[in-house]
Parts: sequence; structure tokens; C-alpha cells
Amino acid sequence: MKLAVIGFGNAGGKIADRLVASDTDGRSLCQFTVVFNTARVDLARLEHIPEESRVLIGQTDARSKGHGVGADPDLGAEVTKADGPEIERALDAMPIHKVDAFLIVAGLGGGTGSGGGTVLAEKLQAMYSEPVYGLGILPSTDEGGRASLNAARSLPSFTTSTDGLLLFDNNAWRTGHDSVEEGYTRTNREMVQRIRALLSAGEQDGSQISENAMDASDIRRTLAAGGVSTIAYAETDLEPETKRQNGFLARFRSNGNGASQNGADPATKVQSLVRRAVRSRLTCPADIKTAERALVVVSGPPEEFSQKGLESARRWLEEEIGSVEVLAGDDPRGNADCLSAAVLLTNVTGVPRIEEIKEYAVTARNNIEDQAADREESIENLVTDENDVLDPV
Ligand code: GDP
Repeated sequence: MKLAVIGFGNAGGKIADRLVASDTDGRSLCQFTVVFNTARVDLARLEHIPEESRVLIGQTDARSKGHGVGADPDLGAEVTKADGPEIERALDAMPIHKVDAFLIVAGLGGGTGSGGGTVLAEKLQAMYSEPVYGLGILPSTDEGGRASLNAARSLPSFTTSTDGLLLFDNNAWRTGHDSVEEGYTRTNREMVQRIRALLSAGEQDGSQISENAMDASDIRRTLAAGGVSTIAYAETDLEPETKRQNGFLARFRSNGNGASQNGADPATKVQSLVRRAVRSRLTCPADIKTAERALVVVSGPPEEFSQKGLESARRWLEEEIGSVEVLAGDDPRGNADCLSAAVLLTNVTGVPRIEEIKEYAVTARNNIEDQAADREESIENLVTDENDVLDPV
């Protein structure tokens, strides 16, 4: 699938930057990339997106002036609407004939991405006929009530304005060991690996084409279920024989549907890899039984593929999620150093973290209102004299 990737806000920009950096394996996932932000400093920190593709919005708004929107999604949405012409100008450079779909990446706990991402999605829906997908990042619990409130308010709009919203939950992926920025660097790498394994399936890099090859229309069909989606992923070592061939005979492989030459059973290997993926940590933890559709992509050297393994993995997943809408295919990558399985689960409705964020958001909203009322009273008490003896100027 060939994407026009649009990073919105700080998290969106950094993840788009990593996606561009990962476009080095002969397959161009990002046909076009642009990043919009209200904060000049965040745009300056990007490493791989060229200067001309970093667009500062909200510059003429007195509340932002290039310094961000202070985690206010309403202001983020407002400046995005106001800078519509600026955004359209940046999109003019896009080779739309080469693009299968849009991917808007945004952190939902802040202001620019959380408010502006939805405005952009609506704009793209009105201007183009290609599907518009979102990659939304949920905040972690230690970011506090404001981030949850922003995410809870952005989530319904982002979901309805896109054709499918892929979720990544920072809470599920944080560890106590690294600093916030180190944590983000690590999670962004994990996220990009999964997005790439899934969405670049079917893009040719000169590898031999397989019979069960997955392509963009399969991915589109699975995402067409809409709602929110999550991704599972696992990888395993190559067989010693494949490794040897990769080293010496990379270009002279056989088709690889049978047992691998050292006697390992490729069908069992593929099947257990897919099971392991589905049981591992999802980009956003969810009850997989609530998924409407699923798609399995097994990627690696074709010697390691097994039609039988793929078929039994597909049947197993059909039973696990109780849906007949499960597609499975492979993605030959001659030079891959592992065998991987990425599983997309779409329109999942059992997502505990979303319920938690909504609850936390309601509490945060009540606290904010109570605190504002208390503060008003305290200020009044502070600056006025108790007995009303003094006459204010
Ligand atoms: P914005 O610029 O106003 O859209 O706000 P940010 O993008 O800075 O932050 C929004 C949310 O994104 C935060 O609440 C975090 O949960 C998340 N976030 C920020 N940076 C990163 C990052 O590099 N990686 C990940 N995974 N999440 C991030």
C-alpha cells in the first residue's frame, strides 16, 4: 500500500519522521509525507522529513504565534480550520495518482494533533476519494487528567472522520526503566515496525512474487470495517539453511512451499508464529473476540513460507474471533533477517483502555470545573477587603 503520511502535532511529526526513515528496504511506503504543527521548535527537531515538508500553522493566531496551542484541542482545531489554504497548498505537491490511502498520525492527548487531526481528516475526505486512515496515540495514565480528557474528546471525532483508526496505547507500552523521551523513541520504533510490516505488504522490492501474496486491496477491505483497530506482531529466527542461502545464494532460491532443508516443519512454524503474535501485546490491548475482521501478513524469505501453515493460522483466527472475515497472505522479502507475522484486527469493540480514559476524563472535567469555581472565589477573597470598607479604584 502506498501512503500519503501526514504527521499532525509533535507525536504525529516524530512518528512520520520514523516512518520516512524506515523507507530504506527498497519499498517506498511513504509516497508523500508532510508534517503540520503549531510549534516551531517541534518541527525543527525532525531529522528525516525535508524542511519544505514541515508546515507551521497558527502563526498568525495571537494565541499561538508558532509556540503551540498549550494542549488545547479546541484551539488546535480552530487554527487548523483557519489555515485551510496553507494546508491545501502543502498537499498540492502530493502525487495523488501514486497514493492508495492517507495516514494521519496524531497524539490524542495533546492539542494540535488531537484537535487538528480530525479537521484534516474531514478536509481530505472532502477533497479526495482515497481512504483516510488515522494512527492515534492514546496517552498513558501518568500524563494526568487533561491528557485523558483531550483523548476522550478527540477519539469519537477522529474515529468518525476517518475510514479506520489504528490505535497505539502509550500506557500499555511504557516501562518504568526509561525516561519519557527514551520511552517514546523505543515505542515509536515498535509502532513503525508494525505499521510497516502490515501496510507495506504487497509493495515490490524485487523479491520473488508468491502465490498467496497480500496486497493493498486486502488491507483496504479489512480496514473498511471502520471503527478502531489494533495490530499484533511477532517474529522468529530464520532456519539455518535460509540464513546460509541469504548469505551465499540470495538470488537463486526455490519456491519454498515444502519443508525447509534442515527438516523443520514450515507449516507448524508459520502457524505458531501467528498464534504467538495474536497472544502478544497488541498496539492497543483489546478483546480480540470483539474484532469484526482480521488480516494476517507473514513476511520473510519465501523459503520459509507455508501455504498449509498460513491456511491453518487463518482458520484458527476465524475461530478465535468468531468471524469469517479473516484474510491471510504472505509478503516475500528476500533479504529479511527474520520471519514475521503482523495481524490487523479491525473494528474491535472491547477496548478496556478506552473505557478507562473516558472515566478518567469525566473525573478530570469535574475537577477542572470545581477548581475553576474555587479559584474564582479565592481570588475574589484575596483582592477584596473583608468588610467592604475600601473603595476599588
Ligand atoms: P500536540 O503537539 O499538541 O499534538 O501534542 P503532542 O504530540 O506533544 O502530545 C500528544 C500526546 O502524544 C501526548 O499526550 C503523549 O501521549 C503522546 N506523545 C508525544 N510524543 C510522543 C512520541 O514521540 N511517541 C509516542 N508514542 N507518544 C507521544
